[in-house]
Amino acid sequence: MEPKSYHMSPEEFRRYGREVVDWIADYYERIEEFPVLSRAKPGEIRAGLPEAPPRTREGFDSFLADISDKILPGVTHWQSPSFFAFFPANASGPSILGEMLSAGLGVQGMLWATSPACTELETHVLDWLADMLELPRQFKSSGTGGGVIQESASSAALCALLAGRERATAYASNGAGCDGRLTAYASTQAHSSIEKAVRIAGIGTDNLRKIPVDDAFALRPDELARAIETDRKAGRLPAFVCASVGSTSSNALDPLREIGRICREAGVWLHVDAAMAGTAALCPEFRYIHDGLELADSYCFNPHKWMFTNFDCDCFYVARRKELIDTLSILPEYLRNKATESGAVFDYRDWQVSLGRRFRSLKLWLVLRWYGVEGLQHHVRRHVAAAQEFAGWVRDSEEFELAAPAPLNLVCFRHRGGDELNQQLMDRLNASGALYLTHTRLEDRLTLRLCVGQTYTEKRHVQAAWQRIRETAAAIQGESAAT
Ligand code: PLP
Repeated sequence: MEPKSYHMSPEEFRRYGREVVDWIADYYERIEEFPVLSRAKPGEIRAGLPEAPPRTREGFDSFLADISDKILPGVTHWQSPSFFAFFPANASGPSILGEMLSAGLGVQGMLWATSPACTELETHVLDWLADMLELPRQFKSSGTGGGVIQESASSAALCALLAGRERATAYASNGAGCDGRLTAYASTQAHSSIEKAVRIAGIGTDNLRKIPVDDAFALRPDELARAIETDRKAGRLPAFVCASVGSTSSNALDPLREIGRICREAGVWLHVDAAMAGTAALCPEFRYIHDGLELADSYCFNPHKWMFTNFDCDCFYVARRKELIDTLSILPEYLRNKATESGAVFDYRDWQVSLGRRFRSLKLWLVLRWYGVEGLQHHVRRHVAAAQEFAGWVRDSEEFELAAPAPLNLVCFRHRGGDELNQQLMDRLNASGALYLTHTRLEDRLTLRLCVGQTYTEKRHVQAAWQRIRETAAAIQGESAAT
């Protein structure tokens, strides 16, 4: 006989929900037992899955066992405290619970009217964060600006670029197509998402000027000013500059104040990308990284990188929301409603690329309430201190050297033995499963990056990493001496 309904009943949800929460708690208790970098070969995970979808109801019973047996081998453990690769993508207990609530409510908050709490909590929490980071007043909703959660720093950069493009062309590009004279600027070290945004916005990679950097890999303002001037004289239309606070390769801090002055003078949109490093500004002693931010038109940082908040959560601020809204707003008949027409509310669909949006501020709210400002500061400081200690060990060692200044929680370093040795070292370390770190190229030399930012990373994990790095390098050298 057919069941009355195939849905999960509240009672079943309660039971299985508890099992899922237990599974997640067990996972965190055991996380250090797993190899940090997945050892799965291409196609291996799919090969373990049934070829066809279930025709009849399977229910929940074997689901968690399958997660453990079939999925975990293909998981790289981003939440392992020995994850030092890329920049982190953090999670934490409160954030996971916030995500659950968001999924449970299942709200789609494209308009204020489609769930007022979704919009208002987001505005409120982003204003809190602006205060916590001591961002300039212009970014708060009580002024001309305001904040919005985007799924990523890439999306934030794209929105900023589109707004810069529109402002530069008096809002004509959206209608008549992109002006082929537009140019954009970012340092050679800026994140690839800027070049991607330039492509998506129809400005074209050839019109992105990659500005040279100084010895600390920070954008050179004199070169920026020169590039803008050259373009202007050639009849081009400079529209957008992206400055990085904590570049991906080396955590370089672009000089915002000087860049900001140049942008103001030239009337060019300045976006500041502080995707990971922005979190450091929770601590007063690190707020120097934002010096000059009041000259920016937009700013973003990702709590989903270093502020213990599950992906996805990028906080994007604009100084004049009208410019963003005029760029992205489009109002079909079926979305018209009284609240929108009253002008008294934010409709966040006008602040982002997609229409639909999740109730992401819940997880951020719970993270802020759980940790408090002091708790967040405590953990950020510990991460920076552990990274600084690691940088000190590198500095004092004879075999290794620092490849860039390490102002915060990213240390770029290399063995003095050359690219091949560094490549082997990284491959072996990652294959060991004990830790995971990634590389970049600085001054055309292979450089290892160790980023201390995973929620649960403590000094002992960094110490263990350093010991393994040294031992592995010595073993490789020993082997090559023997052959
Ligand atoms: N900007 C910087 C400086 C980054 O390091 C990254 C990613 O690591 C990004 C932007 C892109 O981040 P997202 O994944 O949020 O798009």
